[in-house]
Amino acid sequence: MKYCEMSAEELKTLLAELNKEYEAMKAKGLSLDMSRGKPSAAQLSISNDIFNVINENCYTSESGIDCRNYGNLEGIPEARKLMGDLLGVNADNVLVCGNASLNIMYDCVARAMLFGIMGCTPWCKLPTVKFLCPVPGYDRHFKITETFGIEMINIPMTADGPDMDMVEKLVASDSSIKGMWCVPKYSNPQGIVYSDETVKRLASMTTAAKDFRLYWDNAYAVHHIYGDVELLEILSECEKAGNPDRVLEFCSTSKITFAGGGISALAASVANIEWIKKTLTAQTISYDKLNQLRHVVYFKNADGIKAHMEKHAEFLRPKFDAVLEMFEKELGETGVATWLKPMGGYFISVDTMEGCAKAVVAKCKEAGVVLTGAGATFPYGKDPKDSNIRIAPSYPTPEELSEAAKLFTLCVKIVSIEKLLSE
Ligand code: PLP
Repeated sequence: MKYCEMSAEELKTLLAELNKEYEAMKAKGLSLDMSRGKPSAAQLSISNDIFNVINENCYTSESGIDCRNYGNLEGIPEARKLMGDLLGVNADNVLVCGNASLNIMYDCVARAMLFGIMGCTPWCKLPTVKFLCPVPGYDRHFKITETFGIEMINIPMTADGPDMDMVEKLVASDSSIKGMWCVPKYSNPQGIVYSDETVKRLASMTTAAKDFRLYWDNAYAVHHIYGDVELLEILSECEKAGNPDRVLEFCSTSKITFAGGGISALAASVANIEWIKKTLTAQTISYDKLNQLRHVVYFKNADGIKAHMEKHAEFLRPKFDAVLEMFEKELGETGVATWLKPMGGYFISVDTMEGCAKAVVAKCKEAGVVLTGAGATFPYGKDPKDSNIRIAPSYPTPEELSEAAKLFTLCVKIVSIEKLLSE
């Protein structure tokens, strides 16, 4: 029965029972972390053979590059092809960089700030610079733009991606909007895949700012859990629409091999790549080509990566199942929370009743389950409705997750009933 249809007396009786259950769970002394999308140790171990694929006799790439030495700022050709195939773009459109895509994103924003994009005014010389931020979104994106004093505008997400009517209207009329954060596939945290129409509209929309870019973080391009959902390839859509330089795309093998210990890539038009290389040459002589070689030798090609991702999915599926089943069982009929079943990625996003998220997260913590801070999925850490909570099921075991999810649902119920009674 929906809680909003229950009488105050019924709610009070239920609350007393739930509080007893909560105290019993608290007494178990749980200590679980569902706050960050980290692979488990067992999941990381499936990539351990990568440690052995290069050695003192094997450090030269097929193209004849001695990977121990300086040079090849763009990355070794084989790694450019591997990452290009993964994203569905040509090797010429790819720069292979260091251990973290977030680092490339930060550098792209910093570069625009300091030097301006392709001859445009550096953002630091402008009175205001704004970014569109689909919400809920990835906290570390918002941290980058916040760090540079960039004003962030919330754009609500729909089942097809960001609200495109709002996006088109804003970018057409305001030349201080210079960018938009996008996680187009299995978005963090909702697991939404942008529809073909959304991708086409983003590629073709009119922007008042010449130096507007989509910051296209394709972090979960091959991270399916319940079967692949196709995403339109953005570079070619931008080119077709007559906006070839519109997009800077990012990805990494952080959740393919080792988190923070893999290789990352930037994909963009050749013009963007050439412009980026001009400042990159002042930043570094070249990235870690030994790790690039390791990945190329280990995976051989994009099919090698896809097969590897099936193994990751086998780890993640029972964990997502455990959480989703518990949510359905415990919250399905209450009407006090909604969530989406993601087809891939690393997160489940839950919306509680307005004004309840912070209290739910605090209550879970009191009983030993750490969640991502409420508000983290919004710019400046401020969820205007205080209702979104990001669940990261990848690290604990399915058994631990069932327990943690049970506690979570209990906290949602208690906080919601308290709220209903206070109204
Ligand atoms: N982008 C998104 C959307 C993420 O969720 C994450 C990690 O959770 C990252 C980027 C971090 O990627 P990297 O390790 O390549 O910096």
